[in-house]
Amino acid sequence: MSSLDGDWGELHLVRSAESGLVAVVAIDDPRRGPARGGTRLRRYRSLGEAVEDAARLARAMSLKFAVHDLPFGGGKGVILHDEAAAADRELLAARVRDYGAFLDRLGGAFGTGPDYGFGAEEVALLARSSRHVVHGPVLADATRATALGVRIALEEALARACGGDGLSGRCIAVQGVGAVGAELARQLVAQGARVLLADIEADRVESLLAELGDAAGAVDPGEVLSADVDALAPCAVGEVLTDAVIDRLRCKVVAGAANNQLAGDPLAQAERLAARGVLFVPDFVASGGAAVVLVGCSAEGDPLPLDEAEARLRATVREVLRRAEGSTPTEAAFSLARERTAAHRARPAGPLPRAGGEDRGLGRGVPRVL
Ligand code: NAD
Repeated sequence: MSSLDGDWGELHLVRSAESGLVAVVAIDDPRRGPARGGTRLRRYRSLGEAVEDAARLARAMSLKFAVHDLPFGGGKGVILHDEAAAADRELLAARVRDYGAFLDRLGGAFGTGPDYGFGAEEVALLARSSRHVVHGPVLADATRATALGVRIALEEALARACGGDGLSGRCIAVQGVGAVGAELARQLVAQGARVLLADIEADRVESLLAELGDAAGAVDPGEVLSADVDALAPCAVGEVLTDAVIDRLRCKVVAGAANNQLAGDPLAQAERLAARGVLFVPDFVASGGAAVVLVGCSAEGDPLPLDEAEARLRATVREVLRRAEGSTPTEAAFSLARERTAAHRARPAGPLPRAGGEDRGLGRGVPRVL
């Protein structure tokens, strides 16, 4: 066990000489409870870059669990992908199996599910290799719940920023129409909003336009971040909100599913957004839907019903926005996460709750606030 800037953390380097597996598992703070978080299959320029990615994302997961009052610690796994495994399915399968065997050796200290780069085949293989993998139909529930959380964040933030209530008549740009972005677009249109869709995979936009009809339009992926809309929902990749992008925003609200949207110091970037008159709902608040439904699973493994999840998510978003008067939602969310963690540590261990209630270290970009 190592210490990250005086706080607890674990970093596991997983290697197999036989399959050539190189993977990293970062556990941000095991004192909150067993770690949970996805596993990525991604090419990295170096092992150091992979370690940074895992640690930063694990820390973001801790924030997500804390702000939503869920008794887990943040974790993240990354499997370093390369040319050899991309060209040879058998080799990739051997690496995924070795990684799964390592998860079992951790004995449940880290439970995971698919993240960036995992196709259906790899998920099924990983689930056969380890008992600590979320897979199957519950993943669709998780995607729906993530989109629901973003939709609620947009609804609440738009009401605060522009008055009125509901999404009817609003125009919202969605960056990235993969699993979450496409589901979000469907939910927004069902609520009477108009959506502008952007994706680097043009066919994803085309098929969603055909499905959603007149309520949807397309915008160039290079222009989506400065689209003239009521709200922007980044649902593609992290670190999209750079200084230059913030200065070009033409929306009143930003809330999306992508993790770690703020590039650079989050508190400073949140101030910059506020100075531009943009209400930004932090991603660890807006994208907590999957965490809430999966952690709220019944003993039989059924996810938390969406209406219960909706009530929890809405209560947390409202609390963050209420506290943000006089500060930014980002600062308010950090303080709520800190409070909920302190309360969690003071509680005796019991069943999982069902009701809503800058460092330069490895987690660069996500401050240690817990
Ligand atoms: P996905 O891979 O299914 O979709 C991402 C989409 O973004 C893809 O269609 C991709 O082509 C597109 N994209 C990538 N770069 C782009 C760019 N520069 N401009 C426009 N489009 C671009 O992933 P997902 O499951 O929909 O998740 C979306 C984001 O939300 C990810 O960052 C993920 O980490 C985060 N997230 C997802 C969940 C979940 O439940 N799936 C939960 C929390 C957070």
